[in-house]
Amino acid sequence: MDFGFTEEQEKLRKEVKDYFINELPSDYKTGVFPCSEELVAFLREVESKLGKKGWIAPGWPKEYGGLNLGEIERDIIREESGYWDIFWPDVIGIMMAGPALYLFGTEEQKKRFLPAIAKGEAIWLECFTEPNAGTDEGSMELRAVADGDDYVFNGQKCFITTQPIKPDYLYTEARTLDIEPKHRGLTLFLIPADTPGITYNPLPAMDNRLTSEIFFEDARVPKEYMIGELNRGFYHAMTTLEFERANTGVPARLKHELHEFIQFCRETKRNGKPLIDDPYVRDTLADIAVRIEVLRLALWRTSWRFSERERLGPLDYDLGGLNGKEIVAPMYEAMMNILGLYGQLKTGSKWAQLAGSIERKWEVSRSTHPEGTIEALKIVLAGRGLGLPRRR
Ligand SMILES: Cc1cc2nc3c(=O)[nH]c(=O)nc-3n(C[C@H](O)[C@H](O)[C@H](O)COP(=O)(O)OP(=O)(O)OC[C@H]3O[C@@H](n4cnc5c(N)ncnc54)[C@H](O)[C@@H]3O)c2cc1C
Repeated sequence: MDFGFTEEQEKLRKEVKDYFINELPSDYKTGVFPCSEELVAFLREVESKLGKKGWIAPGWPKEYGGLNLGEIERDIIREESGYWDIFWPDVIGIMMAGPALYLFGTEEQKKRFLPAIAKGEAIWLECFTEPNAGTDEGSMELRAVADGDDYVFNGQKCFITTQPIKPDYLYTEARTLDIEPKHRGLTLFLIPADTPGITYNPLPAMDNRLTSEIFFEDARVPKEYMIGELNRGFYHAMTTLEFERANTGVPARLKHELHEFIQFCRETKRNGKPLIDDPYVRDTLADIAVRIEVLRLALWRTSWRFSERERLGPLDYDLGGLNGKEIVAPMYEAMMNILGLYGQLKTGSKWAQLAGSIERKWEVSRSTHPEGTIEALKIVLAGRGLGLPRRR
């Protein structure tokens, strides 16, 4: 068993690492700003530069904007960009809609939609959640009815993460058949975001994170925008959710933040002594370091399993998604405790420590709903991962 990377892969890692060191502004700080138009514009610029190098979807063939590389190379690039907290404005196109089109789309769809995702030129939204369908995705009620060459959509989505810029496409599931069990009547679609009959209503969430309600009123979408097989949308979507959760960028970002925090504890004195000399602080930071390393290894295991899929088959369950959620809230909670009352000051206050970034991240980490709740992930782990019987 070889836990290392090949010489070529190490070369790629160095190239990506050097790229960020040279390209990012010298005063660049990770995660300091709320999700402002200014930050998204900056990240779009980075995304487009990486797209030109083929680093957004390196695993896809060159004709779709990739580099014909594998999952390990893709995850090396994600790990290095994650270290700098490079959040993709088109995270949904890159991590969900793109992989869904790549696996289940027609050749025509792939040629038409994948290159723009790979070049960082499109913005997609993931539109799954509805007022009566969150964890229980099978209960979706947004309806798509066939009419001539189109599907006509009526219904609603909610809590859809939106960027402060206009989206290009919606990646969604809709009911195309009334059947029991309900999840067998759903189909995947891509929908141009400016389709007449679609309206958006902002629902700002904690820490200025923007989500929206999206309403569909007789919105007509050509049939050629269906993704994969009719009434197999739930199964297709479950396959692509795996990609969203397997992100090696997350532990890299957490590690970077931990190192900055350790530096802060070295430089900051309390009661006449550097914070880092306090046994509680040392013990807490060591515990965080262990948890981050466990997450990193879990995600690299997932990456390796993806790369060996042909030989070993699909992964039963990826521990990374759950692990990642369980780590972040206690990590920022612990950092907030170490900072004391100063930790609660927001970015902009002259007394805020680390520019208020820990308070911001602590707030965001309280929201564990996106990408499935901790309870939902445990249910899947129990069933698919451990083979435990379903509850009747
Ligand atoms: C900031 C933010 C951004 C989001 N972005 C998007 C997005 O871009 N696209 C999108 O489609 N959705 C998005 N969502 C919605 C998110 O995916 C849902 O909130 C999530 O799937 C949970 O659904 P729900 O909120 O309806 O909660 P519910 O499903 O109603 O669950 C409520 C609580 O009950 C628990 N629960 C539910 N079922 C069970 C069970 N069987 N056993 C034990 N416990 C259970 C849940 O874990 C949860 O704690 C976003 C949400 C937030 C907060």
